[in-house]
Amino acid sequence: MSELKDRLEIWIKEYWGERCPDYCASCPCCEAWDAFDYLFQHGEE
Ligand SMILES: [Zn+2]
Repeated sequence: MSELKDRLEIWIKEYWGERCPDYCASCPCCEAWDAFDYLFQHGEE
């Protein structure tokens, strides 16, 4: 599962760039990272 997380993180960085220091509304980068956080906030040991 964490391998998927690593690959997804690389993929998000490639397409949307590094996470913004602060969440900005209607920012595609922040939305991508928000989705990433949502996906992995549960289930990781
Ligand atoms: Zn942003």
